[in-house]
Amino acid sequence: MKKSAFRKEKKPNTLSQAMPGLRRIFKEFWPQIRQQKLLLSVSCIGLIVEVVAQLLRPWPLKFIFDYVILHDTGALALEFPMLANSNPMMLLFIFSLAIVGVSGLRAAAAYVSLVTMSLAASRIVAEIRAGLYAHLQRLSLSFYYTVKSGDLITRITSDIDRLRNVTVTGIFPLIVNVLTLVGMVGLMFWLNWELALIGLAVFPLFLLSSVKITKRIHKVSRKQRKQEGAMAATAAEAIGAIKVVQALSLEGMLQGMFATPNRESLADSARTQQLSASLQRTIEILVAIATALVMWRGVRLVLGGSVTPGDLLVFVNYLKSAFKPTRQLAKHVANISKATASGERIIDLLDVVPAIRDTRGAIEAPLFNGDVKFNRVSFAYDSDKPILKNLSFDVKAGQKVALVGPSGGGKSTLVSLLLRLYDPLEGQILIDGRDLRQYKLESLRRQISIVLQDSVLFGVSVRDNIAYGALGATDREIKAAARLANAHDFILALPQGYDTKLSERGSTLSGGQRQRIAIARAAVRKAPIVILDEPTVGLDNKSEQTVTEALDRLTANCTTFLITHDLRTSKNADQICYIENGRVLELGNHSGLMALGKRYAALYQLQSAVDTKCWETCSCIPTELPPQQQRTKN
Ligand code: ADP
Repeated sequence: MKKSAFRKEKKPNTLSQAMPGLRRIFKEFWPQIRQQKLLLSVSCIGLIVEVVAQLLRPWPLKFIFDYVILHDTGALALEFPMLANSNPMMLLFIFSLAIVGVSGLRAAAAYVSLVTMSLAASRIVAEIRAGLYAHLQRLSLSFYYTVKSGDLITRITSDIDRLRNVTVTGIFPLIVNVLTLVGMVGLMFWLNWELALIGLAVFPLFLLSSVKITKRIHKVSRKQRKQEGAMAATAAEAIGAIKVVQALSLEGMLQGMFATPNRESLADSARTQQLSASLQRTIEILVAIATALVMWRGVRLVLGGSVTPGDLLVFVNYLKSAFKPTRQLAKHVANISKATASGERIIDLLDVVPAIRDTRGAIEAPLFNGDVKFNRVSFAYDSDKPILKNLSFDVKAGQKVALVGPSGGGKSTLVSLLLRLYDPLEGQILIDGRDLRQYKLESLRRQISIVLQDSVLFGVSVRDNIAYGALGATDREIKAAARLANAHDFILALPQGYDTKLSERGSTLSGGQRQRIAIARAAVRKAPIVILDEPTVGLDNKSEQTVTEALDRLTANCTTFLITHDLRTSKNADQICYIENGRVLELGNHSGLMALGKRYAALYQLQSAVDTKCWETCSCIPTELPPQQQRTKN
């Protein structure tokens, strides 16, 4: 089972639990937030205007009731002296206009504040995403082996989206709601404290039921999110390995693995809907009870003359609208808690320190001669399973070394260490007499070219695929590299020549063509050190010949590491390094090792004995010694 590269996630339920997470998010992303201060300020002003307009909404109605319908001129003269002598129809016109004006102001303010806030949130999130993506590129290979790609993709897509959405649909409305609520309660007490107390009497009941139901909604949606994560991981895995999935007829099984979380997520989603519907109904009943209570007492107060009918109208209106934002309060808090978890997942990812990075005082590597020395190198992926054990050998500049031996011996690991994809646990690797770790990573890797057995091509043009070897390469350099790689002619024959866009991973090309583009990519790098990891395996005889020719040109004068199982290709190497079980068992040139008469010689003889026809298919070449022969050669 994979060890998680992240700390265990804490799941906040309430705003107070989410607070430390929110603080962490604000602190971490403050530079990005600060950049949008103009938009955010406009949004805040809009927000305040929106709240004030919201509070003013029932007041024109009150004035119509008190001053137009009941014609209370005494109060009118007191509150609006300039309107004291206006006729009632004029007053009706003015207050009706005010109804439209207040709603219009509220709508305009809400629009401006929402749009500016959304824009600011999108910009902030785009910055965060760019930073996160850049960070991901720098993380070491060992990190990628400890996380699921589905989980990473969720972090960079839906977690980030949730962070943006919640700013617009969570934090922002929460502030509006809280301010509106405080304003309404204040105004209610100002109008009549007794009615205010009666109206708010059902509030504790309301809080209790809404907290209880919201908690349940929260629990179910968290489960649902987990199912979604599992679905994303299964889908990513299946899509990434679709060829194998189809070849092994695993579709049914994978569909089954997908179906369970899918079904459960559906059930959870239905449950969430049901819970929020029941919350809504409960609130409606509570509002009705509060309204009835207020009316029961309020009408008596109106009849007694201490409250005007217009005041009562404002009151009932506030009561209705005070419950609405409070109901949404719970929803917003839930959204914010969810987004806090997402935000923290992003920060956790940003906090992962690349295991391989420039050491303090690392220097820009000068152009390498290409002397490479492995000095007592030991390495393990997992501390309890050593892969390379105290391994030493030297390679002079321009020499070709063939790394041979049984699969799993550690050959690919060895070249990964040379590229500094990992660092040795003990010992050191030196290039031109200096430990690799003393060179800046980028300047080291820039001087090493690599051609793999199944080279990865990208879904961009052939030209760009080659140029990826040395960003900024000129057209002439790209074409020269393609000629060196025996690729120029077939590229010109493609529908758009060098501009032909390849399908993802170059699957529309033959294996040999893909390899030749990969060789061109390695050649354009003009690196003094070249790594070839079984570059001709799986090619037919003719393709192998053209690829081998290209490889010979690529590696001329370069220090070359060739990993191969085909001992015909290692025959001409300056040094052959027979690696088994993480150790160098034999080291020398072909004739030396043949004279030694141990493993290499035995394997060579075994391979030579195979009918040459078999080499073409590759499937029956013995790549290692039979176990009993291994023992006798010890
Ligand atoms: P070779 O190239 O000689 O076939 P490798 O270097 O690929 O050998 O592998 C050596 C050993 O390291 C094998 O046992 C393999 O299972 C293990 N190994 C390779 N890559 C990883 C990895 N990323 N994590 C854990 N173990 C690995």
